[in-house]
Amino acid sequence: MIPVAEPIIGEEELQNVTEAIKSGWISSKGKFIEEFEESFCRFCGRKYGVATSNGTTALHLALKALGIGKDDEIIIPSLTFLAVANSVRYCNAKPIMVDIHPDYWCIDPYKIKEKISKKTKAIIPVHLYGNPCDMNAIQDIAHDYDLYVIEDAAEAHGAEYKGEKVGKFGDISCFSFYGNKIITTGEGGMCLTNNEDLKNKMMVLRDHGMDPKKRYWHNVIGFNYRMTNLQAAVGVAQLKKITTFISKKREIAQWYAEKLKSLADEHLISLHPQPQWSKSVYWMYSIVLEDSFGVSREEFMRYLEKKGIETRPFFYPVYNMPPYKENGESFKVTQYISPRGMNLPSSPNLTKKDIEYIVETCLEKTDKKKKLQ
Ligand SMILES: *Cc1c(COP(=O)(O)O)cnc(C)c1O
Repeated sequence: MIPVAEPIIGEEELQNVTEAIKSGWISSKGKFIEEFEESFCRFCGRKYGVATSNGTTALHLALKALGIGKDDEIIIPSLTFLAVANSVRYCNAKPIMVDIHPDYWCIDPYKIKEKISKKTKAIIPVHLYGNPCDMNAIQDIAHDYDLYVIEDAAEAHGAEYKGEKVGKFGDISCFSFYGNKIITTGEGGMCLTNNEDLKNKMMVLRDHGMDPKKRYWHNVIGFNYRMTNLQAAVGVAQLKKITTFISKKREIAQWYAEKLKSLADEHLISLHPQPQWSKSVYWMYSIVLEDSFGVSREEFMRYLEKKGIETRPFFYPVYNMPPYKENGESFKVTQYISPRGMNLPSSPNLTKKDIEYIVETCLEKTDKKKKLQ
């Protein structure tokens, strides 16, 4: 089976983990944590990094550090992984959905203003499937309405918006290092910021809210959202390979785009878009099956699975999920893209031969269908 994604871990990770275990520092103190925080900050061009137990706790920590609480409203895209909406609810705040842009699948900045109220406190742009959001447009709105920006870059490590890496734009920016992300620590996450006060708040909240100057004294209710030295040991080794992973992902995307061009030219599918102001990292190379494709997405995915090719359907619209469907809202672009989109195998260790096999298998199905008609 060719997987959609798989972690690439080798000798360097093993060496670092062995070193951490031999040193006895296997919990959340140890040299790899700060090294990982510092080197990831440097990679993204930010001042401070606060490593966390996963990407969802990173989002929750960011919202808490910014003082988000009961009845606050937070703008999120209607198509994303559900952790974004959940982290808002953990704060007793309300996620307010905005449709995605049809040209690049991230939150549509031109539809944000109509959703802003007196209660709105922040926007969480999500760089979906490796594609950067239109950050300048979002920052302008945040500036005009005095809102915080929390970037969710869990799917876009190293992606660029107008030449700057994502993660550089938010008051706080959150990453995940789950097993299928661009780099992994098994489970893990990080918050980045340039604001020292926010960094300090996050460090306290991450560690049970404990006063750093007075042991076992807690001025606030915190969490245990710490990353372990073992996770960070893996992260340090992964980070050394991140540019190789990213250039391979871009190469794979190019191969797909070239070979699937005939289907796109006939408007049977849409290819993974990349707006001209951005450089995607194609976390997962994705396509949208247009209605003219003639085969349903579910049938197509089942067929590929039989041929040993794993695929993934796009996320469901947030507003369709039972905890979030309360007011029967629905959004046009999300409603179109979500049931038609799918992710293709995108692991950096795939070869050109693998991609050729995948594309040929896709074309086979469409050709057969055409002959039947
Ligand atoms: C993976 C992901 C998260 C959550 O990360 P975990 O480490 O799995 O908690 C949050 N947001 C998005 C967009 C993601 O893809």
